[in-house]
Amino acid sequence: MASSQLAEKAERYLERLCVEIPSRRVGSDGNRAATDFFAETTASFSFRTECPEFECIDWAQEGARLTAGGEPFDASPSPYALGCDVSAPLAVISTTDELEAAELAGAIVLLRGEIAREQLMPKNFPFYNPDEHRRIISLLELKAPRAIIAATTRNPELAGAVYPFPLIEDGDFDIPSVYMTEDEGRRLASHAGEVVALESRARRIPASGCNVVAQKATSAPRRIVLCAHIDSKLGTPGALDNAAGVVALLLLAKLLENYDGQLGIEIVAINGEDYYAASGEKLYLEQNQGTLVDIALSINLDALGYRQGPTAYSLYDCPDAIAAAVRSTFGGYADLREGEPWYQSDHMVFVQNQVPALAITSEGLMEIETAVAHTPKDRPELVNCAKLVTTASALRDLVCLMESQAI
Ligand SMILES: [Zn+2]
Repeated sequence: MASSQLAEKAERYLERLCVEIPSRRVGSDGNRAATDFFAETTASFSFRTECPEFECIDWAQEGARLTAGGEPFDASPSPYALGCDVSAPLAVISTTDELEAAELAGAIVLLRGEIAREQLMPKNFPFYNPDEHRRIISLLELKAPRAIIAATTRNPELAGAVYPFPLIEDGDFDIPSVYMTEDEGRRLASHAGEVVALESRARRIPASGCNVVAQKATSAPRRIVLCAHIDSKLGTPGALDNAAGVVALLLLAKLLENYDGQLGIEIVAINGEDYYAASGEKLYLEQNQGTLVDIALSINLDALGYRQGPTAYSLYDCPDAIAAAVRSTFGGYADLREGEPWYQSDHMVFVQNQVPALAITSEGLMEIETAVAHTPKDRPELVNCAKLVTTASALRDLVCLMESQAI
C-alpha cells in the first residue's frame, strides 16, 4: 500500500479515535468504542484478536462549591474522588511534619506549599510509589479529616500541562477532595480556624474496560510485542497522548496483513497508562507471567508524530544483536533519530520485568508535556500522520529483519 494511502488511513483512524470519540478515559463509553474499533480493525487485517476484561470505575462530577468568611472560592473535585457536603473548621498544612503533628479529625484540611508540590501517586499504584507519597497518604488516612482541599502549583514534569493539577487522583482513596490554584489557596489560608463549607458533587461509577491483544504466529516460541496505550486522561481528546501511538499500531497491523513468519507478533492496545489504577498494565502482567521471558523485544509507542521535530527512539536493556537490528533499520529513515531515554510510559512495565524494550516518541516530548499533555489542546492538528506512516514502515522492516535473522 502506498504511503499516501496509508497516511489517509491514519487521518481517518485519528479522527475516529479523538474526534468522533470525544474521550477515551478508562471506564467510559468512548474507551469501549476505542477498544472495539482497535479489535475490529486488527481482526480485519487477519490478526487473532482477544479482549481480556478488567473492572474499573468511571467518574462524573458537577463541580464544587466552597465558601469561607462569606466569600466563594474556585475549586474542582479531584478526579475519581468521592463527593461531600460538609461544614467544618479549616486546618492549614504545608509540610509532612506539620501533618504528622496535626489533629485533623472533624476538620477540613487545606494542603498547600511544599506538601502540595507534586501529584501524589495513587496508593495502590504498582510501578512507582515514593516513600514520601505513601507517608502523606497514610497520614491523611490516619488523621481522617472530613475533606481535603489541595492548592497546587505548576508542575509540568509530573502533572503535564495541567494547572492547577489535582494533588490526589485516586479512586482507592476515600477522603473527599478538591483542588485549586496556589492563589486561591493563599486567600483561603487566611481563614484558618474558621468554619468553611465545602460541597463537592462527584461520584464513582462501576465500569469495565479491556486490553486488546492482536496476534499472528501464535504458536511461535519467541515473540515481539508492540504496544501503545489506548486510554486518555479525563478532559482531553488525547491525540498525541496517545491516539497517535494507537494509529501507528493499526498501520503496522495493515502492513503485516500477509505476514507468515516464524517470529510471533503481538500488537497490544494497553488500557490504563493514564488511569490511576494502571488496570490494563496490571492485567497484561498477570496474564503473561510465565511468558514474559519469551518476548524477544517489547516496543512502546507513546506521543509520537508531533508535527514539530523528528521521531525519537530509545533502547532499554537490549542485547547487542537487537540493538544493532534496530539501529540499522531505523537508520534508513530520516525522520527517526536515537534520543534520550525516558521513564514514564509502558515500556517501563517491560523493563522492570527484564524484557528488552524500545520506546518511540517525539523528540519534542518535553514540549508536549509542558504545553499540551492531558489538556483539551491535545488535538489531531498536532499530529503529522506522515510520521506515523514512517514509524509503522520502520517497525514492519524491523519485524521482518528480526524474523529473517531469527533473533
Ligand atoms: Zn501517554
